[in-house]
Amino acid sequence: MANTQIAAARNGTVTEEMERVAERENCDPEFVREQVAEGQAVIPANRNHDALDAMVIGREFATKVNANIGNSETTSDIETELEKLHTAVHYGADTVMDLGTGANLDEIRETHVEHSPVPIGTVPLYEAVKQAGSPEEITTDLLLEIIEKQAEQGVDYMTIHAGILAEHLPLTDGRKTGIVSRGGSIMASWMEARGEQNPLFQVYDEICEIFAEHDVTFSLGDSLRPGSLADACDEAQYAELDTLGELTRRAWEHDVQVMVEGPGHVPMHKVAENVERQQEVCDGAPFYVLGPLVTDIAPGYDHITSAIGAAMAAQAGAAMLCYVTPKEHLGLPEEEDVRDGLAAYRIAAHAGDVGSERPGARDWDDALSEARYDFDWREQFRLALDPDRARDYHDQTLPEDNYKEARFCSMCGAEFCSMRIDQDARDGGEMERLDTETDLESSAAADVNLPPTGTHRSGSDALPEVDACEESSVEHAGDD
Ligand code: SF4
Repeated sequence: MANTQIAAARNGTVTEEMERVAERENCDPEFVREQVAEGQAVIPANRNHDALDAMVIGREFATKVNANIGNSETTSDIETELEKLHTAVHYGADTVMDLGTGANLDEIRETHVEHSPVPIGTVPLYEAVKQAGSPEEITTDLLLEIIEKQAEQGVDYMTIHAGILAEHLPLTDGRKTGIVSRGGSIMASWMEARGEQNPLFQVYDEICEIFAEHDVTFSLGDSLRPGSLADACDEAQYAELDTLGELTRRAWEHDVQVMVEGPGHVPMHKVAENVERQQEVCDGAPFYVLGPLVTDIAPGYDHITSAIGAAMAAQAGAAMLCYVTPKEHLGLPEEEDVRDGLAAYRIAAHAGDVGSERPGARDWDDALSEARYDFDWREQFRLALDPDRARDYHDQTLPEDNYKEARFCSMCGAEFCSMRIDQDARDGGEMERLDTETDLESSAAADVNLPPTGTHRSGSDALPEVDACEESSVEHAGDD
């Protein structure tokens, strides 16, 4: 039997990682075991990733957020790459995908795994293209060799583009934006040039055996995801999804954990349909979605267009959201873009959890509302999703310390502060004050959503040590 989380769960064993996850999610370890055993949740935890603080991805748990990082041809030094990891974790990423395509890939990947408290994901196909020189030169031996090496390096989950088949390609002919997944376009190019079936599909069982040996989790790539609203939910997308369902069940036969990737660009009225269809076709395997962007008209604001779709997807049952930054479709993100993208996605994830009435999710909102109504500014900043930004914005107009006791802010001013007027009226005896206290510390949201950042341990032992983050940049979020 494989030595994986799902194998242990199926065998009735509660692992150390399941215990830790239960602690973080404020639930029973036995419930975590059941969810993992049934493939409804995954704990990406490569046995060679010593720095990992185990976390869980599944629709019955708090919605998670992934951030993409990685080098390019022009930026490839290790210190910069470590800064990117630090930035992503600092601003609350629950997992990080290293999508590097530049130099020193092995060294950078090993450094990421060595320092990261969150699971590291990769797309091995990118390294295969680098080594082969062009998509057409990739061989199945090379793919297996790279996948095995990355598994040995401690990568926790890998995007494998095994679901795009030769027979799917003609279905994309009438699309407005063709194939927009980077991995999908590489596989399509390979199949067209060689006239053969997808090599990742052909050696899928061998990949399963490698994953079982190291406990790597599949993230089944959606190579045919729509790149525009016009292409959403088309025949090509759903034909690949059917294959991803089959691949999910084949991985489970090998005692390997699976999550499934999803679109992309989807109008609001079809977001829930996408989630429900994936859950049905893939027997409840966790759905990991990029956005989706709900409109195509706002380059420069795609962290917003996609966070709207992401919140809806989370409410409908998506388990993890891949963040999108304001630079999507335009260029390589910088640190401030990463901060904005992660804030948008942590909001989406939390809003989805509140919208789906996840136990304890709203406790954070209630605690912040109480601090707001009490004019407890310091507590309001502490509880804010981005404490530094909340404090900065407040202090731009009222910086002096005495304004931290003020019963107004500069938005309405002292005379027109509605909360102050309301409280004075209540204090005058004309209205009864409802006074409830939210015990955030002991709520179900305690460790999952507690600010300031993410679900990871934020102590100095958990974050990579770097001097500064000012010059970091992060890979294009949609290019996997
Ligand atoms: S001044 Fe307006 S915005 Fe500021 S605390 Fe009062 S009601 Fe809220």
